[in-house]
Amino acid sequence: MTSPDILTKYSAGAQDELRRVTECFPFRISSYYRNLIRFSGDPIWRQAVPDLRELEDLEGLEDPLAEEALSPVPNLVHRYPNRVLWLISHECAMYCRFCTRKRRWEKPLPFTDEHFKGALDYIGGNRNVKDVLLSGGDPLLLPLSRLENILAALRKIPHVEIIRIGSRIPCVDPGRITPELAAMLSRYHPLFMNLHFNHPWEITPQSRKACTLLADAGIPLGSQTVLLRDVNDQPEVLGELFQQLLSLRVRPYYLLQMDLTRGTSHFRTPVATGLKIIHALRNRISGLAMPHFVIDLPGGQGKIPLSPNYVQEINRSFIVFKDYRGERCEYPLLEGEEGELRRWLVA
Ligand SMILES: *Cc1c(COP(=O)(O)O)cnc(C)c1O
Ligand code: SF4
Repeated sequence: MTSPDILTKYSAGAQDELRRVTECFPFRISSYYRNLIRFSGDPIWRQAVPDLRELEDLEGLEDPLAEEALSPVPNLVHRYPNRVLWLISHECAMYCRFCTRKRRWEKPLPFTDEHFKGALDYIGGNRNVKDVLLSGGDPLLLPLSRLENILAALRKIPHVEIIRIGSRIPCVDPGRITPELAAMLSRYHPLFMNLHFNHPWEITPQSRKACTLLADAGIPLGSQTVLLRDVNDQPEVLGELFQQLLSLRVRPYYLLQMDLTRGTSHFRTPVATGLKIIHALRNRISGLAMPHFVIDLPGGQGKIPLSPNYVQEINRSFIVFKDYRGERCEYPLLEGEEGELRRWLVA
């Protein structure tokens, strides 16, 4: 699925340089996603086409979220007490240039039967694990029977209550979402899916159809959106995306600050950009369409939500807010609550 024809838009010299990038970070795009490109350098293009700046980023980390260190058995990340992230596939329909797991494109860990059994035994032997997130790569690129085997094996473990699948397929290759796949998934409820959309141009009749199949199978759908410089770092763009996603029955879940992954720093926005966007959208679009803006802390310390500050002042009698239009409002406090409130609200 590599598409050299895209690179031919560059001069011969530039093509040579881009080849240097793809030797380090390979290029892959689905033909569907390629057709969403309207012009070179557009928001779809930037997500998919290699960029020389990928090689210039020397400060980024191989594994900013310390996923390897938090891995008790291969391909399984156990960061929070009650849930695990299980990487079950290393195939992707396209390689997103900003991907946090770029390190795995060139040297993926193998998925052997032994690893598979190791991960299942770990989950089965750990009664705290109530929620298993399947990710990758893309779990939906596994053969249907293999994915079903994994789901069936998880469902045999009584303490696993929730299964989640993270997938970019409905966005980057929606034709792969078939009625057979949706019917199979619906046999393993409660099963949630988190999709990954970053730009309103990714909402098409095809992605709409894919989401309809999944939602009609009773699967609650969420979206994780990565905040990307020169792709979607504008309130108008994200406001439209989030509102459109709701119309696909996809609930915006997280807006993610870029991780510090090597080869991706040209996508990184200042932290204030995310806060400004959340502030611009809050109360202007449906509350249902509002994701949490989160930073996934380096070193695997977890996701931290950030919210713009609406509090102007706290005194004995009032908390004073600036509302979403910038107007002042006083909310009366109970007697003696000031001290504790300050501990929760002030840095
Ligand atoms: C994001 C993540 C989770 C899930 O976190 P939620 O906030 O519950 O969605 C679990 N484990 C790891 C390693 C993660 O990165
Ligand atoms: S589909 Fe997901 S895992 Fe694959 S390259 Fe894109 S962001 Fe990374």
